Amino acid sequence: MNPSEFHSFLIKTGIAACGVVDASRPLTYDAYCSQIAKGIPQNLGYLQRNAFCREGFEAIMPGTKSVLCFGIAMPKMPASAPCHFARFCAIGDYHTVLRDRIGQILHFLKDHFPIENSRICVDTAPVLERELAIRAGFGSIGYNHMIIHPQWGSYISLGELLVDVDLMPYREMLAFNTSPLFDPQNLIPGAVGCCPKHCRQCVRACPTGALSSNGYDVNRCLAYWTIQHRGIIPKEFAKAMGNVIWGCDRCQQGCPRIRDNDIPAPEDNPLSRITLKEILTLSGRQLRIRVAQTVIADVHPYMLQRNACIVIANTGKRELIPELENVAQNHACEWVRSTAQSSLNILTNGFVRI
Ligand code: SF4
Ligand code: SF4
Repeated sequence: MNPSEFHSFLIKTGIAACGVVDASRPLTYDAYCSQIAKGIPQNLGYLQRNAFCREGFEAIMPGTKSVLCFGIAMPKMPASAPCHFARFCAIGDYHTVLRDRIGQILHFLKDHFPIENSRICVDTAPVLERELAIRAGFGSIGYNHMIIHPQWGSYISLGELLVDVDLMPYREMLAFNTSPLFDPQNLIPGAVGCCPKHCRQCVRACPTGALSSNGYDVNRCLAYWTIQHRGIIPKEFAKAMGNVIWGCDRCQQGCPRIRDNDIPAPEDNPLSRITLKEILTLSGRQLRIRVAQTVIADVHPYMLQRNACIVIANTGKRELIPELENVAQNHACEWVRSTAQSSLNILTNGFVRI
C-alpha cells in the first residue's frame, strides 16, 4: 500500500489523526481499576461491572491483533446557536459520523490487508481509548485529563478499529498526524512537555473543583452531572452550569495548548437551532424527534428539560416563567417538576445566578 494513497483517503474521509497499536494489556488497566475502586457515581456503575473487559480485547473481539485509532476534530458550535452545548455536540452525532468514516477506511484497508474480523468502536465498547490513542502517538494527556494533540489540541473525538491482522510492521506507514514514538510519560496527566510548568489554567477555570492538585474527581464534574445523572442536580452544581445546557468545556477553553480549527460546523445540526422554550414545551417524544441525528439523540429527554430549567434560572430568563410554571405543575417526571419549581423560586425572588 502506498502511504500517501492511504493518507489522501484519510483526508478525504475527514480523519484528523490515525495511529496503530498492538492489542497488548493496557498499561493503565491497574490504575483504572484503582480509580474505580475509590468510588464512582452510582449511575456509572457499568464502568465497574465491565471493568474486566478493558484488560484486553478478547472479551470485545476474540483474535484482535491490532487496534487502529482515529480522531476527528470538532468544529465550534455556531455563535448564533440559542442554547450553549459543549463543543462535542457541534458535529451532529459524532458517533455516527466517525463510525461511517471508519467503515469507509476499513473497506479501503481490506483491499490491502487480509482482514477477516473487525470491530468498530465509537463509545460502543469498553476500551481504554485514551491510552490507546496516546500509545498510537496522538500526543499526551494534559493536566485537565484530556488528550492534547499537537495539531488539533483537545477538541478531538476518538474511535477505534479492532482487526485480526498484525499491523504493527506497517505502523509508520499507517500513521497520520501522529508520532510513531511512544513515551509512557505521555500517559501521566500534565507530565512531560505537555503542560507549561506553572500553567494550571484548567484548574482555575473549573467551576466546581473537579480538577485540583489531587487530580480529577468525576463526582464534581459538570460533564457527569449534566449528561449522566438522572435526578435532581445539587444546587452547587446547578449554579456552576451557568448558561451551558449540556456538558462543560471550561477546562479546555483557556488552555494554551488549544489549537483552533476552521472546520465548518454542519448547518443541519438541530442543536444549533433549538431554543430553551422549545425544550420546555415539547413533549419527551417530540423532543426525541427534534434532536434525532445529534449526539444526544439517545439520552433521556427529561435530562435536557431539567438542564434547561436550570439554565433559565441561571441566566434570568423571566420571559420563560409561564413555561417553567407549566413544567413545575404538569411534567410527568418528579425531578423535572422539582427543578422547574426551584428555578421559579429563584426567578420570582428576583435573584439571577449569573
Ligand atoms: S468539564 Fe467542567 S466541571 Fe468537569 S473538570 Fe472540566 S471544567 Fe471542571
Ligand atoms: S490549561 Fe495548562 S495545565 Fe491545563 S491542560 Fe492546558 S496546558 Fe495543561
